[in-house]
Amino acid sequence: MSTTLSAPPLALLLEDIVRRHRPQQGVGGVPTNIPFLATVPFDRFGIAVATTSGEVFSSGDAGVPFSIQSISKVFTLAMALQGGRSSSLWSRVLREPSGTSFNSLVQLEAEKGIPRNPFINAGALVVTDHLLEETPDAASQLLRFLTEQAGQAGPAGSQGQAPGRRVPFIDEAAAAGELDSSSRNLALAHFLKDFGNLTQPAAAVVENYVRQCSIMMTCVQLAKAGLFLANNGEGISGSVLSPSEAKRIGSIMLTCGMYDAAGEFAYRVGLPGKSGVGGGILVIVPGQCAICVWSPRLDAKGNSLAGTAALAELSDRTGWSVF
Ligand code: GLN
Repeated sequence: MSTTLSAPPLALLLEDIVRRHRPQQGVGGVPTNIPFLATVPFDRFGIAVATTSGEVFSSGDAGVPFSIQSISKVFTLAMALQGGRSSSLWSRVLREPSGTSFNSLVQLEAEKGIPRNPFINAGALVVTDHLLEETPDAASQLLRFLTEQAGQAGPAGSQGQAPGRRVPFIDEAAAAGELDSSSRNLALAHFLKDFGNLTQPAAAVVENYVRQCSIMMTCVQLAKAGLFLANNGEGISGSVLSPSEAKRIGSIMLTCGMYDAAGEFAYRVGLPGKSGVGGGILVIVPGQCAICVWSPRLDAKGNSLAGTAALAELSDRTGWSVF
């Protein structure tokens, strides 16, 4: 893969991307089932790039915490694969694109409780259940994992953070708000349970899953946390996964990370990515960097409108692509 980082250099390029893609109008949607997300101003836009050589570039609102939502699914999958129990997980969830929306019920019933992949909600509920077999609180375990991978472990106020609320954190109020309107995720969990693909109570799995989604992080932190996926499984504080497991997560991101827009995203951006309805997208450039972009307004498939457009331009202007 060649990198054509011709002028302007990356820092200036990111500033230009922010100038060109920060929304000027409130075009796009916000999820109806997560009241907190409707309160985020439409004109937020941040981007950060963490390179395998240890540099971090960022621009715009890259230091503003946002709700990571389904980007959490990449990291819970990584945690599940870390335990050496991957074969029991892969007998419960497939690795095929779903071609359906992230919270669809239809396919799960037709396919007898085996979700198509770990990045749709049904698959993530199975991953959560798998983690809950080993720990009473997978969301807090995920928070610790992300805090370490983002280089934020240590006393509050260290690592360049302002004293006060430590980021990342679980926004428990946002989680409670989402839980109040989680009928669809509960329905998915009950289907899984009925088909014998959930060991814990359905309500407990959904509650933990919603808390994972409600973790607040910045673009800079998410780019750093995702670096192991671009760096043969090596995170900023050591090995997270084997190179082959890291490669496989990248493959699932490419084919399933944007739900029923995976093909369109691969066409436009040409890189493995994972979106969340908080408006974040984490993207991997194997061997080179992890990128996180955030802008809260979404397209009809639940992916950031401005974020996707910005990544398409960044990939074109840098030559970063897996193709
Ligand atoms: N918490 C959201 C949900 O379960 C996550 C969806 C997403 O980010 N695509 O509906």
